[in-house]
Amino acid sequence: MTPIRYSIRPKHPAAHLFEVTVTVNDPDPGGQRFMLPAWIPGSYMIREFARNIVALRAESAGQPLACEKIDKATWRCEKTPAPVTLVYEVYAWDLSVRSAHLDQTHGFFNGTSVFVLPAGKEAAPCEVEIRPPHGDSYSDWRVATALPRAGAPAFGFGSYRAASYDELIDHPVEMGTFSQASFEACGVRHHIVMTGRNRADMGRLCADLKRICEHQIRLFEPETGGPPVEEYWFLVMAVGEGHGGLEHRASAALICARDELPLAHEKKISEGYRCFLGLAAHEYFHTWNVKRIKPEAFIRYDLAQENYTRQLWAFEGLTSYYDDLTLVRSGLIDELSYLELVADHIGRVMAGSGRHKQSLAESSFDAWIKYYRQDENAPNAIVSYYLKGALVGLALDLTIRRDSEGRFSLDDVMRALWNEYGRRGIGVPEGGVESAAQRVTGLDLKAFFAQAVHGTTDLDLATLFSAFAVEMTLRAASVRNEGDAPESSLGARIGGGADAVLQQVFDGGAARQAGLSAGDIVIAVDGLRVNAVNLDKRIRSYPVGSRVSVTAFRRDEVMTFEVTLGEQAASTCVLTTQPGPEDAKARRLEWLGPPPGHLTAE
Ligand code: ZN
Repeated sequence: MTPIRYSIRPKHPAAHLFEVTVTVNDPDPGGQRFMLPAWIPGSYMIREFARNIVALRAESAGQPLACEKIDKATWRCEKTPAPVTLVYEVYAWDLSVRSAHLDQTHGFFNGTSVFVLPAGKEAAPCEVEIRPPHGDSYSDWRVATALPRAGAPAFGFGSYRAASYDELIDHPVEMGTFSQASFEACGVRHHIVMTGRNRADMGRLCADLKRICEHQIRLFEPETGGPPVEEYWFLVMAVGEGHGGLEHRASAALICARDELPLAHEKKISEGYRCFLGLAAHEYFHTWNVKRIKPEAFIRYDLAQENYTRQLWAFEGLTSYYDDLTLVRSGLIDELSYLELVADHIGRVMAGSGRHKQSLAESSFDAWIKYYRQDENAPNAIVSYYLKGALVGLALDLTIRRDSEGRFSLDDVMRALWNEYGRRGIGVPEGGVESAAQRVTGLDLKAFFAQAVHGTTDLDLATLFSAFAVEMTLRAASVRNEGDAPESSLGARIGGGADAVLQQVFDGGAARQAGLSAGDIVIAVDGLRVNAVNLDKRIRSYPVGSRVSVTAFRRDEVMTFEVTLGEQAASTCVLTTQPGPEDAKARRLEWLGPPPGHLTAE
């Protein structure tokens, strides 16, 4: 097939405009159509990227060609046998990993935001010219991307290529004056590209990410010994506040708070840095789980609309289980630090009554309209397939280890999914992860999955933990010592700025029962003024069961509510290691300790 030729350049960084051209040499004789994706794989929400396309025109043989919009994301050109070029601008002002961003400091884009697909040319190879912005102030800009180079110098502007549109949109591109370092993991070059003001210790980052990558490569690739990529890129944006990532086949785009990054003089792993390492481990694990081991529904993405699967719990949840687990197993954090992270996850799941209304399979299916479009009622209505999915991964791993008497673990299931599906390019059918787990381990896990994935009752994690010499307790946040009584609670999340805005009102809580709503601004309790800082303290100063009068603004109307204070929910989880019994302790060491063959001395 004749290649599709794309070019992109930052036309006006201060106005956040990229200019893109696309040329099709053998256009559709019926009139070439071009469409832009409505969503980006990995982030399951319709985002309508076409709304950022401005000033679009078409040309053919040096003449303007008529081109009309036929739906929200599609343009159709007039019929012509001559090559057709589309020229348009893309407004890029979304500093996230999902879209595109451009200003005087740097540019970043995903192909889904900037490159239209010529209809019928999905399989055509793509040639991409990445051009620099005009002006001396941009003379030191460079380019970082996993797109294969086709003439461009290393880190340079110039020609790149992709084997198909699917590949074109799976290699995000960073441009600017980033810092950069690289390391080898199992013989493959891995780059770290750091954008945004920061003082990160790049040597430390290389050493720590290497451990993460090598651990995961060894987990999935005991036979081949290397990852399924020729090179890998961590594209990191350091910002004031933010945290997130998006996985790609040979790279990950990460956004993090610059405070999370390690400084040269720091030796310990701060909470923020642990969070960053967990994010990097998460996205790297996706190199296998979701980028290659895919649900059937993702083998051929339909980028025009929602692609449904009930399996996101396995692709995001199991990945979330393995992200922090990688940190402890590779020796970056100790088991107490790991158990603290797990306890935090458990607490976050236990805090929402939505877990009793939506199963993980349902949460996966409805990600498009629920998980990704959460409103103030989310804790009462939905469960996160990330958080609960990670707990199901944990429970599944512990169940397999306990019931197979240590012969198998979830690692064996992940490897089987990789060998049976991912490596062979076959999609995992709905229910496929469940059957693989049973097939690999020989255990009857039907009841487990019925409850964990398709049901809404809580997992009995405490019993499972006890088989690994870990004690789990759930308590109210105010209960620190035995004998403490839980303090009073309004049953709402208070946020906002100075005002005490009820951001979320929980089902069954005191505020809900009294008729307060999310969005209400509490101004007084028993006639005394309160704000966001002191409301919770004021409430806790009354005994549980007290009746207090709460005055609040609903929009511009002042209202008073008689509230009977409830007690804080027991949703703070504490996990502690126990000295025995010996067999349980041995199981714990096997679970969290380094796997056989892992080098701990590096
Ligand atoms: Zn993920």
